[in-house]
Amino acid sequence: MKVFKKVMVANRGEIAIRVFRACADLGIRTLAIYSNEDKYSLFRTKADESYLIGEQKGPLDAYLDIGLIIDLALKKGVDAIHPGYGFLSENAEFARACEEAGITFIGPTPYILEKMGDKISSKIIAQKVGVPTIPGSNHPIGSLEEAEFIASQCGFPVILKASAGGGGRGMRVVYKKEDLLTEYELARNEAKKAFGNDTIFIEKYLEKPKHIEVQILGDKYGNIVHLYERDCSIQRRHQKLIEFTPAFSLSPEKRRQICEDALKIAREIQYENAGTIEFLVDARGNHYFIEMNPRIQVEHTVTEMVTGIDLVQSQLLIAQGYPLDSPAIGIKNQDDIKVRGYSIQCRVTTEDPRNNFAPDTGKITVYRSGGGFGVRLDAGNAFTGAIITPYYDSLLVKITTWDRQFTGAVKKALRSIGELRIRGVKTNIPFLANVLNHPTFLAGDCHTGFIDETPQLFE
Ligand code: ADP
Repeated sequence: MKVFKKVMVANRGEIAIRVFRACADLGIRTLAIYSNEDKYSLFRTKADESYLIGEQKGPLDAYLDIGLIIDLALKKGVDAIHPGYGFLSENAEFARACEEAGITFIGPTPYILEKMGDKISSKIIAQKVGVPTIPGSNHPIGSLEEAEFIASQCGFPVILKASAGGGGRGMRVVYKKEDLLTEYELARNEAKKAFGNDTIFIEKYLEKPKHIEVQILGDKYGNIVHLYERDCSIQRRHQKLIEFTPAFSLSPEKRRQICEDALKIAREIQYENAGTIEFLVDARGNHYFIEMNPRIQVEHTVTEMVTGIDLVQSQLLIAQGYPLDSPAIGIKNQDDIKVRGYSIQCRVTTEDPRNNFAPDTGKITVYRSGGGFGVRLDAGNAFTGAIITPYYDSLLVKITTWDRQFTGAVKKALRSIGELRIRGVKTNIPFLANVLNHPTFLAGDCHTGFIDETPQLFE
């Protein structure tokens, strides 16, 4: 068993703060790294120590420079690195570099990252254990002819996906054969630029599916459990906006099947640490595996609220070698995980919904937040006087509510976003309120195209 005395977070914003808090609760000292552009960001003041990194590197590369990060970690006596989400979180090379430097990477092994971080190889694993996947290619597409052949087999519309893609990027939907060439070229170029890898594959594009995902936790001794599902169907441009649990529009039997299928995949690769297995459920109720995210996710909070299990603390404990059934983690077996009530997470962003969600920047001149029983806030740079820069994603604060009833959780979400006062930068608050008030949302029954086909939400 290892003992972490000092943990570095190789990330920024709200997730860095989330990890620092979990460390503090476990009595572990914390270390932040920050880019030149993040000099005035709140997260770095929330760690016990913080260091400027990659001053000349630019806003993103500072958090992506494996050599610099490991050097600093070694110099400062860091025992382990938590990668958060995005940046290096799914990077097997980084996990391996940590291992070689004698530093624990808080996440799965490099082998699992390689297998599951890639959409094609994870799809093959799902098929191997008999979990349904979406019809399409199981291998990289090498030419336009091949793309045409597979598209004609599954039938239009199809979706071109970057195997290394993430965050809703690197995907293009193609509705007719004539557009395939252009879209194929665009998808490859985009993938090359965004992920340094132009591997593309094709799937049938499901119309109006729900996005349902399952939280997994596994320890180093082969014990794996699921922490039930989340409904993440409220999306804009394939990016999640509001998430909730349980996914009560599906039958209990369907939810059970999806969780069981997630476990099959996780067991097959002996999954270790926290991860999420994502599915789409089509209008007829068939579910299909789409990908695995081998890391903590933005929306992990809703699962914590209904299960009472702190996922980030669990990550830190698992990485130190605690088994799931240790008193510290406290999960004796699957039956030990009980879901109580309902939870919803709203992502408040500094984006202008009336201007096609263009990111807004500038100084926050007023910031007052809501609160109360059943309301949890996980904020990044949210305070009066904060400067919102254009360099990073526009997530400002996550509002997560809990109630015994779904309608109660919605009311608390509406109340707390109503209490939120933000001046100086535009936010998506009015848009979130419109979604929360919509009857389809209240029925828990949105599909991933809901926002696009509901223009009233933009009023
Ligand atoms: P990322 O890794 O970028 O998040 P995902 O594979 O998880 O990409 O897909 C993100 C979203 O894109 C899904 O939640 C869904 O809305 C949409 N999507 C992906 N694949 C398909 C598909 N085959 N048919 C319909 N929608 C899809």
